[in-house]
Amino acid sequence: MGPEDRTVVQLLAELQVDGPFGVETGRIAASTDADPQIPTAEPSALPRSQKYFAQSGTVQLRITKDQMEALRRKGAPGKDVEVIRSFKNAQNVTFSEHCPGCRRWIHLGGTEHEGQCFCGQNYRVVFDMTPDDWSLWQEIRCMDCGVALTMSLAGSGPNPWHAINGHQMQCAVCAEKRVADQASESRPKPGARG
Ligand SMILES: [Zn+2]
Ligand SMILES: [Zn+2]
Repeated sequence: MGPEDRTVVQLLAELQVDGPFGVETGRIAASTDADPQIPTAEPSALPRSQKYFAQSGTVQLRITKDQMEALRRKGAPGKDVEVIRSFKNAQNVTFSEHCPGCRRWIHLGGTEHEGQCFCGQNYRVVFDMTPDDWSLWQEIRCMDCGVALTMSLAGSGPNPWHAINGHQMQCAVCAEKRVADQASESRPKPGARG
């Protein structure tokens, strides 16, 4: 059996994941042969049909379009969903990451999940990053300015944070700014008639 005949189960085994929830797929850019980001373990004479990739936190595979579509049918994220990778750790440290769409901060939390950023970008958080990357930003952060919630709470005086959704918060300063911006937007412009 050749690489073009792999089943979804075989692909998931090669990707070293239990399911397709966090498997990114897509077409490999035309100039890929010169792209150092794509592993070149395979010989350069790749089968013409394998112009697509499947990516887990551990492995990237070249696959066929049929295989990509099969993975998506089984629940792999479509092209309108961004995958954000993190990892579990014994210390139960949680991380935050930039939204791939608007660069606001998203708290990744402690469980794999699907979410939608303030900007409308759909994403999935997956804990399969290999190896662990401790350079990720820790803690819950203000989605706009990035200040850490714990640092803020340790500071002087009450500093109320605002929950925007399940995984995004705003610090008091940014929340005030947002309210002020909304007020100035809704105020009629000089000379405009109501
Ligand atoms: Zn966003
Ligand atoms: Zn802020």
